[in-house]
Amino acid sequence: MASPITEALHPRQLMRALLDRLPHTCLACRGWSDAAFCADCRQRFVRKGARCMACALPMPQMHERCGHCLRHPLPLDRTLAALDYAWPWNGLITSMKFRQQPRLAHALAAELSAAVRRGGTGSPCLVLPVALTTARLRERGYNQAWELARRVAAELGLQADARLLLRLHDGPHQVGLDRSARTANLQGVFAVEPGRRQELAGAEVALVDDVMTTGATLAEAARTLRQAGAARVVGWVLARTA
Ligand SMILES: [Zn+2]
Ligand SMILES: [Zn+2]
Repeated sequence: MASPITEALHPRQLMRALLDRLPHTCLACRGWSDAAFCADCRQRFVRKGARCMACALPMPQMHERCGHCLRHPLPLDRTLAALDYAWPWNGLITSMKFRQQPRLAHALAAELSAAVRRGGTGSPCLVLPVALTTARLRERGYNQAWELARRVAAELGLQADARLLLRLHDGPHQVGLDRSARTANLQGVFAVEPGRRQELAGAEVALVDDVMTTGATLAEAARTLRQAGAARVVGWVLARTA
């Protein structure tokens, strides 16, 4: 008699199901684990402390917004970060970004989905990745933000779209500039696909990115979506620098 997992599965699905039943090594510490990240690593390295509601910066206690966001409000209704951009996540995110690793992308997307479930950031009708320019996409072969966005959307039963928000150019170098200088530098970097603006009218949108540093890129993408008619934009970022 066939075991339940061998029934009606495509050979590739069967292989996946069998691989999932084998013991794994934890992607962070390389110890044996029955999950992508072992319980010990998740306990030690997934910070559960408070963050600013707008920019996701770690805060000592849960306040609505940090001082910087009170003085210079971001065009985001809320930003949620799953992880701190620190060991072991920084190395894993670099691996995801420059070496296509489906298991790693899947495991990191699961951390972001879990954070979204915990954080309860509304009910967006669209999940959009922060776009790359066509040249950067061609050079890298894929957009890491889309690799996260499509998996998170699938897990949460939402619609993801990689073609609605466009990145027209990279903008000048941002290193060494503060948030307001970066914001000024990024104007005109993003656009909404011509002919599809009506899809954003009154929409609630979740913008997904892998790492948030000053938030200038995420803010400029959010501003572009708002100008195109989005009613609410929330940021879902995998990791936040401190
Ligand atoms: Zn571990
Ligand atoms: Zn803030």
